[in-house]
Amino acid sequence: MIKSVNAYAAASATAPLAPHPITRRLPRPDDVEIDILYCGVCHSDLHTARNDWGWTHYPIVPGHEIIGRVVAIGSQVSRFKVGDRVGVGCMVDACGHCEACEEGHEQHCSETATYTYGAPDRIDGSLTQGGYSEKIVVKEAFVVRIPDNLTLQGAAPLLCAGITTWSPLKNADIGPGSRVAVVGLGGLGHMAIKLAKAMGADVTLFTRSPGKEEDAHRLGADRVVISTDAAQMAQVAGHFHLIVDTVPYVHDLNAYIPTLRFKGSLVLVGYLGPLEPALDSMPMVIGGKAVAASMIGGMAATQEMLDFCGQHDIVSDVEVIAMQDINDAYERMLKSDVKYRFVIDMASLKVEA
Ligand code: NAP
Ligand code: ZN
Repeated sequence: MIKSVNAYAAASATAPLAPHPITRRLPRPDDVEIDILYCGVCHSDLHTARNDWGWTHYPIVPGHEIIGRVVAIGSQVSRFKVGDRVGVGCMVDACGHCEACEEGHEQHCSETATYTYGAPDRIDGSLTQGGYSEKIVVKEAFVVRIPDNLTLQGAAPLLCAGITTWSPLKNADIGPGSRVAVVGLGGLGHMAIKLAKAMGADVTLFTRSPGKEEDAHRLGADRVVISTDAAQMAQVAGHFHLIVDTVPYVHDLNAYIPTLRFKGSLVLVGYLGPLEPALDSMPMVIGGKAVAASMIGGMAATQEMLDFCGQHDIVSDVEVIAMQDINDAYERMLKSDVKYRFVIDMASLKVEA
């Protein structure tokens, strides 16, 4: 048995998103059925809708920063009850028995994690569809709890932007005394600043956009460096333990390597693909510096990040939009005209029904 629900989908790489009803399964014994209240708009939604990575199956309903309330549970569900405030991020299943899954890094499942949209369901093979919809049905183990003190719209971006920036900060043991830089002040970048600051680090923003200084300081940055200004870049030579690079498109990494301290690392979380211009290993070898990459985080880490945000009162700075505004929002995101995350109010989708 299935239910039909309202959703917005892209029908092709060039089509604007438009209303497109989808079906949701009735809960299996280990499933939670969620009425979606808010869904954040991640740059990955745009990459996927436009097939930037070459793997999109259409029609596709994006959205992996999902917040809602539990409306039904399967017979074996033990951690959630009807009425709970919950979230779903970028994945909804994984094999559960490979080394990565056993170590709590389900996102690196050797049999490939089931992403929230555009991936085959592990039981019936149907393609998953994301959070730009009224409802979602998800295995309990891939559902997280939202701390009571966080606003639901502000918490939505934590499910992707939050955990994606949390992982490199935690892996590098960031805390008091650490010097962290963030490249790009968008959805991921503003969360990286807030989280690094709350962990006790000294935080710098690298931006190509003059005019973001005041906001960066308000979000917690101690320093702002215009990345296209060589003199400003030289002032932070040898400085950073960690650089979290959130830029979505190919860009020159060589300019950032000199700003790392010895043994420092630059972690790519934004761009996926071949680097251009080529990365020069010389300053990396001589300085003992690393370039690495990171993808979201495991389920236990996601809950840990949410609980940390609850304790430190951290939410995303959001602009709430109606579902009908999504195509405009994509265009604005491409121009970096968002402070700092669009979040869709799903009540707007119900109105349209
Ligand atoms: P976003 O809100 O659009 O922010 C990206 C920021 O990067 C912009 O605000 C801008 O900051 C800078 N930027 C944009 N285009 C640039 C260009 N051509 N050259 C240099 N800087 C540029 O995007 P987001 O939602 O934060 O996502 C960022 C990237 O992370 C996307 O590619 C997304 O797919 C990826 N992502 C990865 C993961 C993961 O697990 N690894 C998870 C989520 C998202 P300034 O104006 O300050 O320079
Ligand atoms: Zn995302």
